Order: sequence, then structure tokens, then C-alpha cells
Amino acid sequence: MSKPLVALLTGAGVSTDSGIPDYRGPDGLWRRDPEAEKLVTYASYRGAPEIRRRSWRMRRDSLALTAEPNAAYRAVAELERSGVPVRVITQNVDGLHQLAGMPARKVLELHGTVRDVVCTGCHARSPMEDALARVEAGEDDPPCRGCGGVLKSATVMFGERLDPVVLGEALAVSKACTVFVAVGTGLQVHPAAGLAGVAADHGARLIIVNAEPTSYDDRADEIIREPIGTALPGLLRGLAA
Ligand code: ZN
Repeated sequence: MSKPLVALLTGAGVSTDSGIPDYRGPDGLWRRDPEAEKLVTYASYRGAPEIRRRSWRMRRDSLALTAEPNAAYRAVAELERSGVPVRVITQNVDGLHQLAGMPARKVLELHGTVRDVVCTGCHARSPMEDALARVEAGEDDPPCRGCGGVLKSATVMFGERLDPVVLGEALAVSKACTVFVAVGTGLQVHPAAGLAGVAADHGARLIIVNAEPTSYDDRADEIIREPIGTALPGLLRGLAA
């Protein structure tokens, strides 16, 4: 018998234990500071140098690049190392799955990553680290070295489309998996949230690990409300056995 394919959909709740705030949550930055939304809206970012300068300062001070993977991230990587086929679909942009040891090819980053920058002109990608080194050195809005275009983090901003290739792969994984674990997400932001329904429609066992109720609780086979950092390692050890 082949081993079950485990798909994990991870959201902001998995990273809060690593000190990364949930920007969209009830106390999130976007609600407390409406101006901040412009920082992650493509048209305002591209059109306004002062918004980009503020963005670069925030990226420089962000915790996302210095955060360490927590117990939940380590547990996902351990499950993969145990030989169980695992695919991760994540709404998080912090790259902590890969840092915990998940092979990059098994992680689908729906909303992109803060670990790279991309040029809005020629689409060249380069490490965020290099761009931040330029900011540290005094460039408050470093342009693309190739074409002089505006650089942004390789995350999907408001007003940008999700990468259709990544989304297509996420759909395929959701259809093929035997277990679908949604962790730390309220399953409210589409299309990511809909993947839980796709998995359930195709016969997967749907497990939800989230402190608050989610939009798909009525479709779940199992709901776990305990803190992710303790609940997820136990749950995944059970799947590895
Ligand atoms: Zn360029």
C-alpha cells in the first residue's frame, strides 16, 4: 500500500509563535493603520516613492527575516523526513517551512516570499538580503540593477494576481491528497480557503487546527483548538506512524 499523501495548508497562526504578527488578523497592522495597506497595494507602491521608502524601512526592521522556525514548522519537516509524502501549501511569506528543513520543491508559496525581491519592470529576481544591504548602505529606494525599474518584495500584493502555476499545483495537491490539514488559518481568504473544500470533495480527510472557528468547520473530520505549537507535532507524529 502506498503511503497517504499529506497536504498541509498553513496560515498566519503558524508563524505567530515565531514572533511574526498576523497582519490581517483582528489586531492586525492593516486594521490599526489604514495607511499601511498602501505599502502592500501594488498600484500605490509602484506609483509613490515615499511609500516605497517606508516599505524598505519596514522590510529592514521586519522580524520575518530573522525569525526562527518554531515547533510546528519543525514537526512538518520531520514528517517529511520520516518518509511520508508531504506537500505544503502556505499563505505565509516568511520562508520558515524551508528554513525548518522542508525541501523547497515541496512548498507552494501562494502569496510569494519576502526572501526575494523582484523587479516590476524586467521581472528579474534576486535575494532580499542584497537589496537590504543596499538600503543599509544608504539607498532608500534601491532600483533594479538591470533595468532601473522599481523593486518590490516577491510577495503577492493587493492588486496582483496569484501565480497561476503555483495555484494550479496547489489545486492538484488538494485533489490528490488523502489527508488535508489546515493549520493556523481561518480559511476565509480565497482561493486558498477553497482548497480545503476541494480536498474534502475529493475524499480527503479534512483536519483543521485553529484556535478560532473557520469557514470549513462543518466539513471537517477533526477540529483541534489547542495551541498549534503543541497540537501539530502530536497530530503529525500520529500521521507518520
Ligand atoms: Zn529590472
